[in-house]
Amino acid sequence: MPYSQRYWNIYEKRIQLPVHEYKEKFFETLDKVQCMTLVGETGSGKTTQIPQWCVEYVRRESIRSGMKRLVACTQPRRVAAMSVATRVAEEMDVGLGQEVGYSIRFEDCVSDRTILKYCTDGMLLREAMNCPLLDNYGVLILDEAHERTLATDILMGLIKEIVRSRHDIKIVVMSATLDSGKFQNYFENCPLMTVPGRTFPVEIFFTPEPEKDYLEAAIRTVVQIHCCEETEGDILLFLTGQEEIEEACKKIQRQVTDMGPDVGELKCIPLYSTLPPNLQQRIFEAAPPNRPNGAIGRKCVVSTNIAETSLTIDGVVFVVDPGFSKQKVYNPRIRVESLLVCPISKASAMQRAGRAGRTKPGKTFRLYTEKAYQGEMQEQTYPEILRSNLGSVVLQLKKLGIDDLVHFDFMDPPAPETLMRALELLNYLAAINDE
Ligand code: ADP
Ligand code: MG
Repeated sequence: MPYSQRYWNIYEKRIQLPVHEYKEKFFETLDKVQCMTLVGETGSGKTTQIPQWCVEYVRRESIRSGMKRLVACTQPRRVAAMSVATRVAEEMDVGLGQEVGYSIRFEDCVSDRTILKYCTDGMLLREAMNCPLLDNYGVLILDEAHERTLATDILMGLIKEIVRSRHDIKIVVMSATLDSGKFQNYFENCPLMTVPGRTFPVEIFFTPEPEKDYLEAAIRTVVQIHCCEETEGDILLFLTGQEEIEEACKKIQRQVTDMGPDVGELKCIPLYSTLPPNLQQRIFEAAPPNRPNGAIGRKCVVSTNIAETSLTIDGVVFVVDPGFSKQKVYNPRIRVESLLVCPISKASAMQRAGRAGRTKPGKTFRLYTEKAYQGEMQEQTYPEILRSNLGSVVLQLKKLGIDDLVHFDFMDPPAPETLMRALELLNYLAAINDE
């Protein structure tokens, strides 16, 4: 069938993405080696474009070998898996769930015709339990590897094993930040492809004094930006969870409406992982128009970490970063795992700031002091495997047939005490026996 008009409209945009120029080079590398890493600025087109190239690759291979194989692309977050699959189905001019689908916990949107599947890293891990060599797949793409979620870390260990016994599988590890050396070393010095982003300069502001209440400060800052900044452009505010986000949206909306028609219209849009898919798509809506008196209309997305690297929202010019996110923390001594609001890392702060420079020069307002940034924030967020109760991980590894947990090739091995606690717990529960 001929492509639709929409296909060609999107195609115009796709060929302008920074990754586009690297297509030839990507295929050359993929033909030569089994594993490769790809690092590129958020928004350069990794998640939407590379899997489509891999589809071309498995198509060619299937003609040669007569075996139909799929492409899987993992995402740490369900929102991202769904949203990106929807977008890529449009880009490929097919129905969602047909050639392009997604698979997340409790929801499978795939068919016999599916050739490209976006899934959460946990789902692929689950598949590996039934089919240890993942025989259905020709290419596995581990996206957002820098997030170092539990499931991605375990998958990386498994994939190292799979690569040894299956020479017909290709692995692409993709990441946004530049800690690529670590991934390269882990996968036996595999080649690295770097895609430079096309971003604009971002001016960064700190608060002179620490803020007492970051939520209140965040709301105030958003309202000030909306009323006082003279450049057009949308606002992105990072908060930590659903409740806080909904509250902030309501308050911002109310304050702006109360100011009357001298101030432009503001559309506040929440984004968090448990939001229903149709509401998630609202972040891609256009900003409201300017008023006849020139007051600027803007969109304000209030989001959790999802908007840090997983989803790209074009048009954001102002970022408000209170410097917090919810993180899992585990203390093996007292055996308690909790979800706490913690200060973010410098790497996260840098990613957040970068979101302001996608379409034109932007501004980032950090609601903490420069001294706190330099002196108190850690460089990188610790991988999740170092911050979790490993009970279910150990059980999963056992089910995957890995008995020697101590020598399993973790990228960052967890503390022996944490592993011991996990074994102990599973033994109490009679999930594993004394041996
Ligand atoms: P990366 O994975 O490198 O961060 P993506 O492949 O997710 O980048 O996005 C590339 C570009 O595709 C974005 O900058 C944006 O312009 C566009 N895009 C992605 N998803 C959507 C969507 N749902 N609606 C509109 N544009 C989108
Ligand atoms: Mg991406």
